[in-house]
Amino acid sequence: GKVLVSGANGFLATWLVRYLLEAGFAVRGAVRSPAKGARLLEAFAQYGDRFELVVVPDITKDGAFDEAVEGVNAIEHTASPFHLDAADPDELIVPAVQGTLSILQSALTHGKSVKRIVVTSSSAAVLQIQAEPKTFSELDWNEQAPRDAAEMGRAAPAMTKYRASKALSERAAWDFVERHKGQLNWDLVVLNPSFIYGPTIHPVPAPAQLNTSARQFHTIFTAPADAATLRGGACWVDVRDLARAHVLSLLKAEAGGERIIVSAGAYVWQEWLDAAPRSSKYQKGIPGAAKDVVHQIEYDVRKSVRVLGMAYRGMEETARDTVADWEARGW
Ligand code: NDP
Repeated sequence: GKVLVSGANGFLATWLVRYLLEAGFAVRGAVRSPAKGARLLEAFAQYGDRFELVVVPDITKDGAFDEAVEGVNAIEHTASPFHLDAADPDELIVPAVQGTLSILQSALTHGKSVKRIVVTSSSAAVLQIQAEPKTFSELDWNEQAPRDAAEMGRAAPAMTKYRASKALSERAAWDFVERHKGQLNWDLVVLNPSFIYGPTIHPVPAPAQLNTSARQFHTIFTAPADAATLRGGACWVDVRDLARAHVLSLLKAEAGGERIIVSAGAYVWQEWLDAAPRSSKYQKGIPGAAKDVVHQIEYDVRKSVRVLGMAYRGMEETARDTVADWEARGW
């Protein structure tokens, strides 16, 4: 079959396109401009006409994906802004929510052959910040970030604005499905990954141009960090494992209608520095300083194992391959 991948030039989506092509799917990659697509055509040239591009300049417009969804059997919607310099929360919320609604609407009206849609949400739509450590599951919803973003507006912390955009866009997707029950020839799978790290295969001229999560990872290895920073952390998943989860979400019938957390585990930054090869030239932080940390947030990922058959890479492998990627790029 043929799969439409939105945001095809992104950190995650480039791996996803590669794995779909390797699995035998044809792929239509949606990008915002021909220039962004040209690099992808080069990267996937070996697959000939199994990889094609569609340019969708503004994903927030009604009907934006009407042509893009024609003739595809499935959709993987990854396009959504993840950056920490939005002044107004709507700079993230509008493209996240309207982009999701417009692709679902186009699938409803123009996607006659679409059987399944996978939306990349986030653990940001699951977690809430609190005093006590907690293990979150798919039953948890982040109601805090949308509320705080609405109340605080421009004064809201950058991560709050982003988390609000992911919680609201995922909610909009489930509400759309509920509203159009009985009219859809497709079902919805939502994946909720934690921070995505790992090697990059999309064109990135310099570390400063990395996507937000990969750039933060690189910064920890290359810029001085104080002890408090090194003892701070979150949860993570290797980009290759998450891309595989997106492929498996098309292959597993029982994934339909499910919200699935995809996460390898918790970390603090010092643990990443400790996990990297000893021989690497990157900073070592304060080795062992993370030994007694308590992880504030963890995720129950049994559903990803049961429904998708996920197995997760560990920190050593991801650290090793990421460092090797930087070295190969001369960073
Ligand atoms: P990237 O920034 O590498 O890719 C994002 C993609 O979305 C790009 O193709 C980008 O296009 C597109 N995009 C961003 N904003 C817009 C917009 N306003 N209109 C149209 N397209 C847009 O991000 P990732 O690969 O890290 O993220 C992929 C998905 O995973 C996103 O949905 C993100 O929210 C989610 N996610 C990411 C996490 C992470 O740690 N990275 C963690 C959890 C979820 P362009 O290049 O043209 O800007």
